[in-house]
Amino acid sequence: MRIVFFGPPGSGKGTQAERISKRYNLHHLSTGLLLREEIHNNSELGKRIRKIVESGHLVDDETVNEEVFSKVSVYDRFLLDGYPRNLFQAESLDAYLEEEKKPLSGAVFITIPDAEAIGRLSGRLTCSKCGFIGKQPLYRPGDKCIRCGTPLIERNDDRTEVIEQRLVHYHNFTKPLEKYYHDRLLIIDGIGTVEQVALRLKEALSIWE
Ligand SMILES: [Zn+2]
Repeated sequence: MRIVFFGPPGSGKGTQAERISKRYNLHHLSTGLLLREEIHNNSELGKRIRKIVESGHLVDDETVNEEVFSKVSVYDRFLLDGYPRNLFQAESLDAYLEEEKKPLSGAVFITIPDAEAIGRLSGRLTCSKCGFIGKQPLYRPGDKCIRCGTPLIERNDDRTEVIEQRLVHYHNFTKPLEKYYHDRLLIIDGIGTVEQVALRLKEALSIWE
């Protein structure tokens, strides 16, 4: 099985992607993590990515493609999470996988309404050490993480203005993937608990097993 996961910010796709990868023994390739890893390894590509990120820009399509292709060339079974983010990336991926003779099984689209995304993402405070997430007003910035004691911070990505920008970007660039993948698409309702969504996903994915 080779699949891509996409959905609006706050849809919980990262969490579901992790579970599905374990269940089907797929390499979970999260673009965010891969790019951070590349920077950490200080490779040539990593140095380029660091420059882009430090200048405050989004990593360009060519660079993200290069990073992703270097990984999917190694693995036969994988789940891509956070990629593709736009039509150009989706087309590039298909072209690359066709050359490699490893076509995608399909795409999984986890959907939630904008209001739900804003409700889920706003007021989040994150522990930079263990990843614990607390919500305001139950927690306040600077409160200690209940797991490891590190002070909780509001990530730039979780500020209300930034959430709104991310949603606009999503509608303009990522949502059109629904049409692009229409003939190999599973649409999963992302409303409910992690368990409920996981169950829907498991039932839907059985067609590609
Ligand atoms: Zn912590």
